[in-house]
Amino acid sequence: MRTPIVAGNWKMNRTIAEARDLVSKLLAPLMDITDVDRVLCPPFTSLFVVSSMLDGSDIGLGAQNLHWEEKGAFTGEVAPGMVKELCQYVIIGHSERRTYFGETDETVNKKLHAALRHDVTPIVCVGETLEEYESGRTSEVVLRQINLGFAGVDPAVASRIVLAYEPVWAIGTGKASSGENANQVHAQVIRPALTELFGEETAQVIRIQYGGSVTAANASEFFSQSDIDGALVGGASLKADEFVAIVKAAATSN
Ligand code: PEP
Repeated sequence: MRTPIVAGNWKMNRTIAEARDLVSKLLAPLMDITDVDRVLCPPFTSLFVVSSMLDGSDIGLGAQNLHWEEKGAFTGEVAPGMVKELCQYVIIGHSERRTYFGETDETVNKKLHAALRHDVTPIVCVGETLEEYESGRTSEVVLRQINLGFAGVDPAVASRIVLAYEPVWAIGTGKASSGENANQVHAQVIRPALTELFGEETAQVIRIQYGGSVTAANASEFFSQSDIDGALVGGASLKADEFVAIVKAAATSN
């Protein structure tokens, strides 16, 4: 009942020419796959060119960040209305932004409201560090990130949010969570928290992706789980064959 959504987070990789090359390899095979929402999130510098290449397709385009203010003296930042000009999606609160750029649950909350205000679908990332995982604090950390990050969101628009559970220890490490472990967090921590905030009906509609070292080889293990509704893919989204295989795995699990 929830359409899977697979998004490729290119992070700070690919020049404009390289982006053009990657999208030219992805376009036809991704367009052939139905019943999965497919999203590409290149760096800001390539959004324009990728946007024109995706024109006429049903493949979504996402930014990797946005600022919450509408405009003004915020050097280096990109306003939500500017993101909206090119993108249908935006990644918010990725752990790399939390770790290296001082993002907090409070700034995630402001960005989430800005995205919703502009009708850009937010992909909100949550997840615990290795230390938090090893000390059994996964639920506590994820609940805090959700409760503070989602504060003040109107239940009437909450169904548009996509959530990505990304254990920090699994991102870019090659050490993915097991499907079972991730599903347990989705089903026993995240969805109940969403039910509490937005009610049962909305919580059942919100899609929860898994992210962290997803590859073509392990994708099915995640997509076969009851509460894993797609993936946020980093490294593997830079390889056309690999990303297409992951999206195909999501389609098969439907
Ligand atoms: C990510 O960037 O969100 C991510 C999950 O990266 P990777 O797939 O490389 O672990």
